[in-house]
Formats: sequence, structure tokens, C-alpha cells
Amino acid sequence: MKKIFLLSCICFLYYSIYAQITDPVATEVWEPEPSAIKPGKGLTPPSDAIRLSPDAWEHKDGNPLQWEVSEGIMTVKPGSGPIFTKEKFGDCQLHIEWRSPTVIKGKGQGRGNSGIFLQNRYEVQVLDSYENRTYSNGQAGSIYKQSMPLVNAMSPPGEWNTYDIIYKEPHFNADGIKVSSAFITVLHNGVIIQNHTEIRGTTPYIGLPKNPPHEDDVIQLQDHGNPVSFRNMWIRKL
Ligand code: MG
Repeated sequence: MKKIFLLSCICFLYYSIYAQITDPVATEVWEPEPSAIKPGKGLTPPSDAIRLSPDAWEHKDGNPLQWEVSEGIMTVKPGSGPIFTKEKFGDCQLHIEWRSPTVIKGKGQGRGNSGIFLQNRYEVQVLDSYENRTYSNGQAGSIYKQSMPLVNAMSPPGEWNTYDIIYKEPHFNADGIKVSSAFITVLHNGVIIQNHTEIRGTTPYIGLPKNPPHEDDVIQLQDHGNPVSFRNMWIRKL
């Protein structure tokens, strides 16, 4: 009797599962429906993007932008300091166009150096890495001092580069301990150079990554003393 009962259960389960996997409707999801947006074309961002035009940026303590601004292009004014978005962000898709100075000055880390600090902590290196050798985990597209780019997809000095960044923020528990790392994917001029790379913590010049807890935070563009230009920046919160 017990055996018959068990066998019946097995048959019931088998036919239940079998019925599910042979019914195409069982695996269809209709709700929610992804919202329709207009994709971007050329210099036009997607319709649901936030434009990071010059008025979206400020210096430390809310001081107004001192970088040179001309026709929507922002250029580092050496010595004026880094700039920060007024708004804070977490998970995001970020599009940034940047250009190394046409007049080549300096070498290694001293040539066309800037940087994009996600959540004001994690630097995606901006550098003139066109025929300009430096340490690999410090060249353009590196997660600074952590992860070198898969290839060097750099445009020559004076030509525009694009970064398309997909960023997943880290999470911390109530005790401030990191429970999941940040991850980043970066396309440089359309070429994947960081493929779901784990960010192990902050990206200091000296020392190892650290993991102090934080929430959403601003994006920083670095003043490293070189007149690097930025334009057509936009972000989508994810
Ligand atoms: Mg830098």
C-alpha cells in the first residue's frame, strides 16, 4: 500500500513537471512590462537619461565650476580641483566622452591624466594611453591600481574617446561590513575593456583597496593637472 502511494506521488510529480515544461505559456512573463524609451542616436542620449551637462557639476562644498566650458565641452582647469555631480548615484549606466590634449606634454601618468570616480571612490582611469607606456593597471580604462583593461582601445591625442560604463554598487550590512562588491563593465570606444570586473574597494595611489561603508554618492572628475576635455555625458539610474 505504501509502495503504491509513493509511486502515485512520483507519477503525480512527474506529470506535473512534464505538463509545465511542455506548456509554452508556463514560462511567459507579461507583468511588469519594461517601459518603452527612445534610444539615443549620435550625440542624443536615450530619452530616460539624465544629462550631465556643465550645470550638473560643481567643485567641493558647492563652489561653482571653474573648469573651462565652451559649447558644452568642459576642460580641466589645472589647479582648480576636481568636480562633482550635484546629484548622487548608485547602480547606473554612464556614458562619457573625453579627449586628451592635442598638444602632447609629459609622459606616463603625467600625460592627459584625469579620472572618473564612481561614487566618489572608485576610479576608472582617464589617461592619454596612445603610445604612452605606464603601469598596466594605471593606463586608460583601468580600475586604478586594481584591474588593467583587456586591450588598449585608445584614440590618438586630440580625438574623442567614449566610455560606456555599467556599474553595480557595493552593499554593506548594518555593521558596515561589505557583503557584496561593486562590479563594473566598461566599453572604450565600443570595445569591452572591463568585463564584469569586481571592484575590490577604493583605488588609492598608495596602498591597498579599502572598504568603508557608503550609500549612493556623487561622481567625481579628477583634476590631475592636465587639460583633459569632457562632453556629452549622460547617466541612467538602474
Ligand atoms: Mg587619474
